[in-house]
This record gives sequence, structure tokens and C-alpha cells, in this order.
Amino acid sequence: MLEIEDLHVSVQDKNILKGLSLTVPAGEVHAIMGPNGAGKSTTSYTLAGREGYEVTSGAIRFKGEDFVDLPPEERAAKGMFLAFQSPIEIPGVTSMNFLKTAVNAQARSRGEKEPTAVEFLKMLREAAKKLNVTEDMLRRPLNVGFSGGEKKRNEVLQMTLLKPSLAVLDETDSGLDIDALRLVAEGVNALRCPERSFLVITHYQRLLDYIEPDVVHILAGGRIVKSGDKTLARQLEDQGYDAVIGQAA
Ligand code: ADP
Ligand code: MG
Ligand code: MG
Repeated sequence: MLEIEDLHVSVQDKNILKGLSLTVPAGEVHAIMGPNGAGKSTTSYTLAGREGYEVTSGAIRFKGEDFVDLPPEERAAKGMFLAFQSPIEIPGVTSMNFLKTAVNAQARSRGEKEPTAVEFLKMLREAAKKLNVTEDMLRRPLNVGFSGGEKKRNEVLQMTLLKPSLAVLDETDSGLDIDALRLVAEGVNALRCPERSFLVITHYQRLLDYIEPDVVHILAGGRIVKSGDKTLARQLEDQGYDAVIGQAA
């Protein structure tokens, strides 16, 4: 599903990712953990194709296709979903219209028919109800004035409607309360299936109490220094990054 090969990324001429390699097969949930400043958010922004994140060498392949030169919208349309620590606010666009545009773009890209307005509304209302996203929230400008929990619920709603092939969730450093964590985890768990992959980026292992990863990677100094099964997350929590990374070095 996702192959990152010897990726080097600079931000404002500063090398941040220094040879990051990572493969996430279809159907698997991989977690990236790492100390502050390791390059976790840089990895998610690079996957998103955000401006200013310059790939100086290496490759990103998604479903076998080279991704580095694709604009962000095309990445999304091809089935990559990214959720950031701080979701963007879009003052002029209601959540509902944002979702409709995203769903349509994805349908076009997959060569499927766009849902009709009625079909879309039905799909939206069903998903929104499960996530406790109110009609009022759907009619408000995207994320503007939303509380942290509302933003998260809205994000999981987006993920649920878009049914991405790969969802990248950067939960780093964010002060998510336990309810928001559970919500994200339930959203992920409900969508787990053999055709879909997740990359869960997190500083603490707390989120992984709810989302059981197949593989845990430790990112430090701009590259993956160690990978293991879910017990690696527990080991990090117990022993700290220095001890575990020290063993890897
Ligand atoms: P993490 O998410 O793992 O905490 P980041 O990817 O946010 O780490 O940051 C990795 C490193 O890149 C840090 O040393 C940070 O200071 C640096 N960095 C991040 N963004 C920028 C930027 N826009 N300009 C310069 N340095 C940056
Ligand atoms: Mg950070
Ligand atoms: Mg971060």
C-alpha cells in the first residue's frame, strides 16, 4: 500500500528526514512513535504533499505509484487520508460542502459515479449520527470555532465517508482527552479491513491501548531506528525512548 524508501526531506533548507524507510502493507495498522522533534509531523506533512516540505531524495510510492510529484488533492483523491494535529479551518466552506466535494473528487478519481445529493445526504446523516456530529456542526464553516473534540469527531466523519485506502493520523503531542482518543480509535477500528491500511503517528502509547497496531516503528533523528510488534510501544512507555533507542544504536 505505502512504501517509503530512503526518504530525505528538507524544510527551509534544514534536513529533517534523513533516510526514512517504511513499508505498510494493505490491511495493516502501523504506528510511528518517537521523541519530540524526531520528524513525525514532518513525515505526515510530506505524505500530504504540503508546500515547503522538499523531498531531496528517496521515494514515496502509494499502491505502486510514485507520489512525490503529485499535488495534495490528487493524493487525497487516490485514497490517502490525512488527519493532522490541528485540523485546518476553512471559513468560507461549510463542513457539509467540504465533505461533498471530497467525496465527489474521490468518486471521480476511482472512476465511480458521484453520489446524488439525496444519496450523499443519507450517507452523511447516518455517519454523522453515529459520531454525534450535529446538523448544526455540518452547516457551520469547516472547523471554525469547533472545540477540540468537535474537530476530532468531524475528522473521523470525513474518514468514515471517504473510506480511504490509507489513513495517516498524526496525534502527536496533542492534548487529546480520553473521550477524543476513544473516538478516533473507534473510528479506526470500525474501518479496519484487509483492503485498508493505517499509519498512526503518536508520541505516547496511550492511543495504542485502543488501536492495536500490527507493527510499531520508532522514529528518531529523521529515520526509523527500530521496528517491532505492539509490545515495543509498551517497552517504550516503561523504559523511555533513550533506553530503547540506545539498544537499537
Ligand atoms: P515531531 O512531530 O516528531 O515532534 P517535527 O516533524 O515537528 O517533529 O519536527 C522535526 C524537526 O524539524 C524539529 O527539529 C523541528 O524543530 C524541525 N522543524 C519542523 N518544522 C520546521 C520548519 N518549518 N522550519 C524549520 N525546522 C522545522
Ligand atoms: Mg513535536
Ligand atoms: Mg509532531
